[in-house]
Amino acid sequence: MLATVLHKPGDVHCEEVADPKILKPTDAIIELSASCICGSDLWPYRGLQPLDGPMHMGHEYCGVVVETGSEVRTVRPGQFVVGSFCLSDNTCPHCRFGFQSSCVQREFMSGAQAPYARVPLADGTLVATDEIPSADLVPHMLAASDVLGTGWYAADAAEVRPGSTVVVVGDGAVGLMGVLAAGEMGAGRIIAMSRHESRQKLAKEFGATDIVAERGEEGVARILDMTKGVGADSVLECVGTMQSMDQALACSRPGGTIGYVGVPHGVSLEGERLFFGQKRMLGGPAPVRRFLPDLMDRVLGGKIQPGKVFDLRLPLEQVAEGYKAMDERRAIKTLLLV
Ligand SMILES: [Zn+2]
Repeated sequence: MLATVLHKPGDVHCEEVADPKILKPTDAIIELSASCICGSDLWPYRGLQPLDGPMHMGHEYCGVVVETGSEVRTVRPGQFVVGSFCLSDNTCPHCRFGFQSSCVQREFMSGAQAPYARVPLADGTLVATDEIPSADLVPHMLAASDVLGTGWYAADAAEVRPGSTVVVVGDGAVGLMGVLAAGEMGAGRIIAMSRHESRQKLAKEFGATDIVAERGEEGVARILDMTKGVGADSVLECVGTMQSMDQALACSRPGGTIGYVGVPHGVSLEGERLFFGQKRMLGGPAPVRRFLPDLMDRVLGGKIQPGKVFDLRLPLEQVAEGYKAMDERRAIKTLLLV
């Protein structure tokens, strides 16, 4: 089959690879309904994450089960499934506590920018629907696999409550999903920090009540001004740089909570600032599996349309252009037709 392989920074393309097969009795093979490129795929593409050999790309997926290993019990061939980018058994103490992304058997999904993929730990990872969803729902279901689940976790970790004042730092796909999640959780005010017009528009469509285009100290001053000097109850940090974390900490009220899902690159925190600022924080790789059944229900019921975050659609053969468009920030997120 043709699949996406990254050979070295900037060199990604579609090439012939071996079809995936069952390697362990707990595996499943799925035929993807669609795939996509994640913002985190840009780290190795930009050479900011070391590569040891050619990398089979893609960790966001949904599709139809075609084969299962001998120990798989909860899904069967013919079912439509969505899974998380974190593969988990869903039975260990961390999974049971709702932190499947710290599963004792955790693996990370790979090879999903392809027509077929192997999903390890299928029973714990995959969630099946009763029926095959219509084609127009596929992008929304695909979004649940990572980008929506991660934005949702940011809002959950930031303890968004009905009526909360929420600030979202970062207008990438995850930040936009954080806006959507905060809206679904009943936030009273959702301030999206974004400088880009197309992203501001989408943030508003997803439920942002206010937009702040300023960054850094100016951005913080605007947020404090808008909240009568108090700061936000919940802040979603969806970037992962020192500047964005600084902004998140400074926008948060004493006793407020920061949900941080941007993978930290060069972020360090000062104990004294956290202590005297009374900041509460929870973050990390999102335990998407915890939220999946609920998110899939919301999509199937037509309540949310997270797939609007895909503003570029390309056939898998043109995957290189998809990476380029996201790298140059011409596209928010690329959907790949497999
Ligand atoms: Zn587990």
